[in-house]
Amino acid sequence: MGASLDELTAWVQHQGQLAYRGRQLHQWVYQQGARTLLDISVFPKQWRETLADVPIGRSTIGHRVQAPDGTIKYLLQLADGQIIETVGIPTDKRLTVCVSSQVGCPMACDFCATGKGGFQRNLKSHEIIDQVLTVQEDFQRRVSNIVFMGMGEPLLNMDNLLAAVRSLNEDVGIGQRLMTISTVGIPGRIRALAAEKLQVTLAVSLHASNQQLRERLIPSAKPYGLEQLLAECREYVQQTNRRVTFEYILLAGVNDLPAHASELARHLRGFQTHINLIPYNPISDADYQRPGRRRIRAFVKVLEEQHIAVSVRYSRGLAAEAACGQLRVSQI
Ligand code: SAH
Repeated sequence: MGASLDELTAWVQHQGQLAYRGRQLHQWVYQQGARTLLDISVFPKQWRETLADVPIGRSTIGHRVQAPDGTIKYLLQLADGQIIETVGIPTDKRLTVCVSSQVGCPMACDFCATGKGGFQRNLKSHEIIDQVLTVQEDFQRRVSNIVFMGMGEPLLNMDNLLAAVRSLNEDVGIGQRLMTISTVGIPGRIRALAAEKLQVTLAVSLHASNQQLRERLIPSAKPYGLEQLLAECREYVQQTNRRVTFEYILLAGVNDLPAHASELARHLRGFQTHINLIPYNPISDADYQRPGRRRIRAFVKVLEEQHIAVSVRYSRGLAAEAACGQLRVSQI
């Protein structure tokens, strides 16, 4: 998984087979859900049996929890025994997969369960692609959207991220415009992503209206000033002609006052953007509270008065601990 049609064709030819077997292999891996090469019944039996030990790179579902709203959280076991979380989020028109990019996360944001659990390793590109195929197969429905908003910081794993985006686009058939990469911001990496000139949406976890507050919530923000982060975001817009979305977690009494909203609006003046407010989802070892509806409405109103497009991300999957920031491998 992760190999293109050309690469698979070269591989089958190297095995002494005709080129059309490459297309068959591509079809079975990416569309038919083959988990081993033995599954590919159109291959001659004799050849197939010699391929029994060639890994495709699929994970196994260790655990699956369904929330009342239909959202399903999966714990997937990787080849080396590590476990990651993936979430399938269905609506009438869409099936969105929230994929992990790392096992754990090194960013240690104060409000995020994944950050509290520490970091193990980067995911390989096939381990990212596998998550999408797994959700697609389990729901028996085509995945329409991908959000890189699961465990980990995608821009710390650029090579595998970019390889996965390419393959999910060209091999699995999901439009780049239907993919969103979410980052807390790593110096220089948004610029590097912009240079790839992809058509994916960039979402930036801003979460604070000034640098001081941001550093308190996000320790990794210390060497990366808000102005520098926003400057890279502007470059992203220029290079790609795509809008940047900002995510802003709402923590009661911490960053949710109308004054924070106006400060935020000042920073984003003249920026073609959209703010996605995420009312805090409770995690066990943080002391924050989710603001009430009136507080949220007041925050929204200030932004709207400044003509900033804003939406509130109502949490899906809360009951399965599958909502934003709640992913942490806890059981299998
Ligand atoms: N590391 C990337 C990808 C994670 S996306 C990033 O930071 O953008 C997950 C989103 O959920 C991020 O915006 C993250 O800050 C947010 N989040 C983390 N903990 C949360 C919590 N407890 N409640 C609500 N949102 C949370």
